[in-house]
Amino acid sequence: MPVSLDKNAPVLVTGAGGFIGGHLVAELRRRGFSKIRAVDIKPLAGWCQSFADVENIQANLKEPAACYQACKGVGAVFNLAADMGGMWFIERFKAECMLSVLISTNMLLAARDCGVDRFFYSSSACVYNADKQKNADAAALREDDAYPALCEDGYGWEKLFSERMARHFMEDYFMNVRVARFHNVYGPLGTYDGGREKAPAALARKVALAKITGRHEIDIWGDGEQTRSFMFIDDCLEGMIRIIESDCREPLNLGSDELVTINRMISILEDIAGVRLTRHYTPDAPQGVRGRNSDNARIRRELGWAPSIPLRGGLEKTYHWIYGELRKPESQRRPAFTEAAETRYLNVASSGLEALAGLPKTLPAFGLFQSEEQARKFSQV
Ligand code: NAD
Repeated sequence: MPVSLDKNAPVLVTGAGGFIGGHLVAELRRRGFSKIRAVDIKPLAGWCQSFADVENIQANLKEPAACYQACKGVGAVFNLAADMGGMWFIERFKAECMLSVLISTNMLLAARDCGVDRFFYSSSACVYNADKQKNADAAALREDDAYPALCEDGYGWEKLFSERMARHFMEDYFMNVRVARFHNVYGPLGTYDGGREKAPAALARKVALAKITGRHEIDIWGDGEQTRSFMFIDDCLEGMIRIIESDCREPLNLGSDELVTINRMISILEDIAGVRLTRHYTPDAPQGVRGRNSDNARIRRELGWAPSIPLRGGLEKTYHWIYGELRKPESQRRPAFTEAAETRYLNVASSGLEALAGLPKTLPAFGLFQSEEQARKFSQV
């Protein structure tokens, strides 16, 4: 049954210090959610956004006890925490990407045992079969194209495994799990340098720097003819909330279907910035698949809605934010938006386990553990 999330019940956002998580916390506040718990492994000073009226927690959600503490008393969970980044990051750090399976697993177990009503899992277009993405004009990807599986190595396999696990938690433990496969999300207040940034932010930064320095040149990974679609953050937020409230038990594409080449996106950014740049192509740089677009037939059918914000409008907002950041002295650039807020830090080996002790005794199990006693022993290893 479709539901409306209860705005007075506690809601948990993991990965809340990140790009999408930070925007989601802001959006939930705007919609009147009064009890938001935000968790991230980063210190609060490094979060993209943080708010004083939110319960901000720094914890490593690869640890079971931290997941139990995070889920305790919560009605809905948006699980966005993952170790991830753009093409360079996911090609270079495959083991790190796969280790996010510890977050996915422990969060599902904790949500099951804490009696969470609705659980949202953020999967990715990187789950799709690489053979269906070999040409720049390849057909847009339908949800069924994930199988037979031939995912993006590392990151994509973790996402497919975790969404599959989420499905079986739904079937075997009757959890209400909803899964979205995000296609390239972009917007202001995201990472635009340091190696984890994705194409729109990286290109906006390069164009902005060219404008600022007067050095009118740009390096482009590959020949620039690879194609993608890019979803503006506002569409992503709307989609996540619609999906968690929906009765759709299958994974849904959550992405724009406006396909562009990287060269075309650079031209749009040049127009926005009012510059023309000499393009230098680096054929050996990581590029990912040749062509990827989102087929939105299923989300339209299920929700009567699909992302629709045009790329140009979203890029304008993103470019102007990055340009503004780059004009600031470096010490003032990050974090992007932080209210004075208190953080609780979970030391999992000690205080995190107090959460386990405080769980209602009627719970079916302690996730990985058969008893509280076992959980305590495990934490001392
Ligand atoms: P992000 O890197 O900005 O945010 C992820 C956050 O998770 C980070 O702040 C990170 O510190 C946190 N995190 C990592 N390991 C953790 C741990 N062990 N415990 C607690 N927190 C931890 O990424 P994002 O762009 O906001 O993506 C959010 C989610 O959406 C991720 O699951 C990502 O895989 C998925 N996704 C994003 C995109 C995109 O285009 N941004 C595309 C597909 C899927």
